[in-house]
Amino acid sequence: MIIDELAGIAHDPRKSVDEHIARTGKKAIGCFPVYSPEELVYAAGMLPVGMWGGQTDISKATQYLQSFCCSIMKANLENGLNGVYDALSMAIIPTFCDTLKCMGEVWKTAVPKPECFTFVFPQNRKLEAGVDFMRSELERLRARLEGISGAKIGDGDIERAIAVYDEYRAAARDFVKTSPSYPLTVNARVRHNVLKAAFFMDKAEYAAKLRAATAELKALPPEDGGSRGVVLTGLLAEPDGFLDLFADSRLHVAADDLVQESKQFRVDAPKEGASPLDRLARRLSDMDGCSLLYDSARTRGQKILGMVKDTGAAGVVVCMMKFCDPEEFDYPIYKKELEKAGVPLLYLEIEQKMDSAEQLRTRIQTFAEMLGA
Ligand code: SF4
Repeated sequence: MIIDELAGIAHDPRKSVDEHIARTGKKAIGCFPVYSPEELVYAAGMLPVGMWGGQTDISKATQYLQSFCCSIMKANLENGLNGVYDALSMAIIPTFCDTLKCMGEVWKTAVPKPECFTFVFPQNRKLEAGVDFMRSELERLRARLEGISGAKIGDGDIERAIAVYDEYRAAARDFVKTSPSYPLTVNARVRHNVLKAAFFMDKAEYAAKLRAATAELKALPPEDGGSRGVVLTGLLAEPDGFLDLFADSRLHVAADDLVQESKQFRVDAPKEGASPLDRLARRLSDMDGCSLLYDSARTRGQKILGMVKDTGAAGVVVCMMKFCDPEEFDYPIYKKELEKAGVPLLYLEIEQKMDSAEQLRTRIQTFAEMLGA
């Protein structure tokens, strides 16, 4: 099935990126989490590549990062120091959290290749001043990408890139809406890897494959595995060994509120705008319910409750990335709202590289039994 092909790409991203570069002759640009403006890279005729860490053994990175940094950044730096990203022409590092703010400076000092571009996101992204600032950062990135490619990025190129990304986002939304009806074929691990493959492929090719994968699913009769659906929330849910505990405990993902997954494709660019860069800047203004985006209304808890209601999920699992302070700050606020609404909640602390996820097995099993799985 096509979903197996997509899931396989997430397991060997290097192969997919190298093949793409060899086949198209295009350059590739690394995009650190969480919302690097990929559309602009795409408009420059280059491949945006997600840099979301991995199951890397950490040794050299400890010279630059404290032990209490999140495992994603430790893995990215270790990979950078080991030359894993040498095929990339540049890495975009946004400034969403304190760790990322330090990361740009560390990268410039410690990693000779690829060069990095620190992208500063506005905190008050809904004010016109914030939109102006975001546009000016996009202009700065546009100029730097033009320097790398040697070609101008026209407004028409950016409009076309936005259309490709909106198509990708629509395809991904259709997939996550469809997949809960197939909890055996699309278990938690498969679902995650299918969505993660988007970071290592041309988005137009990925969207076409995902549409085909979803059509394949819809042609099958719905599966009744007797499992209960849950909503996952957090930065990301990895590694595979952790996700396998869900299927083992007869749980499947009814919906997710993960930054690495649905938060990448929940919101399209607005249809209208003074310019394509204005549309990209305003897309950031339209996004809400994320620990990395300043939100005085604190809408995350209500959004999760909406997902529980819409999907009939039996509970919520918090996948707390160890040492991710923005996520830790958000937790007490939405926890209170979920508890008040009587939604069962399981809090799990995770790292990308866990020697064993077995200590989590008992907790997930117990939660599943409590939900009647
Ligand atoms: S601390 Fe959290 S938000 Fe910051 S880089 Fe790490 S995982 Fe991402």
